Amino acid sequence: MSSPVVGRFAPTPSGFLHPGNLLCAMLAYLSVRSRGGQCLLRIEDLDKARCPEHLTRQCLSDLDYLGFRWDGLVLYQSERTKHYEQAFHRLIKTGRVYPCFCSRAQLHVSQAPNRGDTVYVYPGTCRNLTPEQVHQKAAVKQPAYRLHVPDETVTVSDRMQGRYTSCLSNNPGDFILRRADHVYAYHLAVVVDDAESGITEVVRGMDILSATPCQIYLQKLLDYPTPEYTHIPLLVDAHGARLAKRNQAVSLAFLSKRHTRDEITGMLAFAAGLIPEVYPCTLEALIPIFSWSNVPNTDLQLPQAFLTE
Ligand code: GLU
Repeated sequence: MSSPVVGRFAPTPSGFLHPGNLLCAMLAYLSVRSRGGQCLLRIEDLDKARCPEHLTRQCLSDLDYLGFRWDGLVLYQSERTKHYEQAFHRLIKTGRVYPCFCSRAQLHVSQAPNRGDTVYVYPGTCRNLTPEQVHQKAAVKQPAYRLHVPDETVTVSDRMQGRYTSCLSNNPGDFILRRADHVYAYHLAVVVDDAESGITEVVRGMDILSATPCQIYLQKLLDYPTPEYTHIPLLVDAHGARLAKRNQAVSLAFLSKRHTRDEITGMLAFAAGLIPEVYPCTLEALIPIFSWSNVPNTDLQLPQAFLTE
């Protein structure tokens, strides 16, 4: 008997869920549900300042409105600091973790990367500080902690994107595990949570593919299994512009004023290639007809009329 499939959807509630998030949730959910597996919901609210309570509540109610029914309890990263701390201490024992006092230290560390972001490679300034230097600097500044990555190539075998390879020292270079304000970084939290929740498959946006090698490396260091990855194409409007929080993407509140719940579901399912034309349908009805082979590996396009009418 094959082992059960466990998937998850892991939104960061730093804005309203946009159609791209909803499509990702839909594919993650249908992929496991169509094989009788479980799907968990994890709220990636590591950085409480960026993820206020009302956005988390809105995210939960949007998903509920669309008919998602999650297995188990919803996991909140903001409540899991102890788990990240344990993993962090295990990583310290590898001798690869070092304090970093650079002011760039707080850049982008608990955020998932986005397409178009330039990869910032840390030049290694604090990698070889002497204990005395660390002591002196620590007296005036709290350090962040970085992982010294080897000059090693890691390959992701992705269900949609095939093989993606990158050399850790160029991408991402020594990355942050814990910020100076003690907030654990996205990569560490994701890897710990996926392992502790027994996640067997990860479905998420293409924009995170380039960050996956360093997550696989962390899994190796922490003795965690590597789940199966599927990085899905991004959702764009009829002009090819990405529908994301960063470019004033439309919220479900906006959509639901113009369309019924089942019309929204049908339109997302159509954009994902799951149904041949736009018609109202439910998430439940998509479970038996779901197949990855129908999801195209090109930008997924939403009809413009859907967004503006
Ligand atoms: N929280 C990330 C986002 O909202 C997704 C992380 C993941 O699925 O691993 O983009």
